[in-house]
Amino acid sequence: MIVCLDLEGVLVPEIWINVAERTGIPELRRTTRDEPDYDVLMQQRLAILDRHGIKLPQIQEVIAGMGPLAGAREFLDWLRARAQVVILSDTFEQFATPLMRQLGWPTLFCHRLQVEPGGRISGYRLRIDEGKRRAVTAFRELAFRVVAAGDSYNDTAMLGAADAGILFCPPRNVIEEFPQFPVTTDYEQLRRVIVGASAGELTLA
Ligand SMILES: [Mg+2]
Repeated sequence: MIVCLDLEGVLVPEIWINVAERTGIPELRRTTRDEPDYDVLMQQRLAILDRHGIKLPQIQEVIAGMGPLAGAREFLDWLRARAQVVILSDTFEQFATPLMRQLGWPTLFCHRLQVEPGGRISGYRLRIDEGKRRAVTAFRELAFRVVAAGDSYNDTAMLGAADAGILFCPPRNVIEEFPQFPVTTDYEQLRRVIVGASAGELTLA
């Protein structure tokens, strides 16, 4: 069995929103809800960083200070002792690194920023389209049972592709739009639902 977990909103806070708060640059709060075209949004974000002279090491320092969500490390350690765990995220490796260190270096599939030698972020590269869903589909083709958990719209395709999909602390509109997925609101509930979805492979103890 493989458990696929989303990162932001499940194990760590929303990265861009925290970067906006901690750098005092409110324009960085814009998300795909404000600007549905992801490339337009990312180019805006990179232009804002340039305008403020913010380079990758400063952002990584901010992200290191965020830390994982309370209880995330303990939950992940519990899970990794019992099942293979792969984190499937739409963030970038360089942003995730300070948080992965605090989570004990779990396996992470995500995207990558293009960074100049001086630390300026010049662009980004999406590794693959629909990476979350396609990873789950590929694991199932390798004869793994896949349980997936995520919090938002960008997770629903992977939840649907998994043997069992679970929502964790989702916004209300996602709950209403995707009533087929069980909703969990803390790690204890998530543990129980994962065990229940494991077809007898996992136990709580
Ligand atoms: Mg998320």
